[in-house]
Amino acid sequence: MAWSCTGTTNAELISNLLRNRLINSDSVAAAMQAVDRANYVLDKRHAYEDSPQSIGHDATISAPHMHAHAAELLLPYLLDRPAPRVLDVGAGSGYFTSVCYHLVRSSAQQQQQQQGGSGGDSTGTVVVGIEHIPALTALAEQNIRADGLSSAIDSQAIMLITSDGRLGYTQKGPYDAIHVGAAARTIPPALVEQLASPGRMIIPVGTYSQRLMQVDKDAQGTITQRDLFGVVYVPLTDRPA
Ligand code: SAH
Repeated sequence: MAWSCTGTTNAELISNLLRNRLINSDSVAAAMQAVDRANYVLDKRHAYEDSPQSIGHDATISAPHMHAHAAELLLPYLLDRPAPRVLDVGAGSGYFTSVCYHLVRSSAQQQQQQQGGSGGDSTGTVVVGIEHIPALTALAEQNIRADGLSSAIDSQAIMLITSDGRLGYTQKGPYDAIHVGAAARTIPPALVEQLASPGRMIIPVGTYSQRLMQVDKDAQGTITQRDLFGVVYVPLTDRPA
């Protein structure tokens, strides 16, 4: 499955993800089309391969099909909201932070236009990427700027924070969607707390054997968990000394 989506260009990668039904919505296709994976990998020759790749510091940029999957799962919680908020824990290369930004910006613009607003750039959407290795926070920022989103960083529509992602980032919460890009031993309670009502978190959980979990908070604040499938992610850990 994974290798069948590999393309020679970003556009071909996305069209292969669509053909194999790893992307099922126009919104996710447009967001992933807007983010050129070549700006987020170390070795550009492998930019459009559907595989995880090293970004240094024992971290990897996840495979495009995993990012597509996570974006599709979070999408229902980002639509029809005037100013959605997203938290991307373990931002690494910054790739998924950028995908989330394109997703929330376009859905917020549509929403505001429907309500008679301008739907301009100042939609009030915020995407926070948290990374605990300072060099990777810097790399994420550099990549996101190279990918054409400098103004989003300058206006703090995209925020990159160096901190322990297991604690979340209360300053900008609650979040409509939380993506965790590294495997937690157990689901961090602070992240569940910082989910909006309604809100959804996608998080790999486990050590030797990991499962991708979906944690939903409904409008009344009731939490439900769903075990989606087995995955392999780098661990969500304490910062190396
Ligand atoms: N979505 C990213 C995934 C990077 S790999 C991408 O595709 O580029 C997972 C990342 O989680 C690594 O960069 C690692 O440094 C980070 N990480 C691990 N434990 C963390 C923690 N406790 N807090 C914040 N980031 C963490």
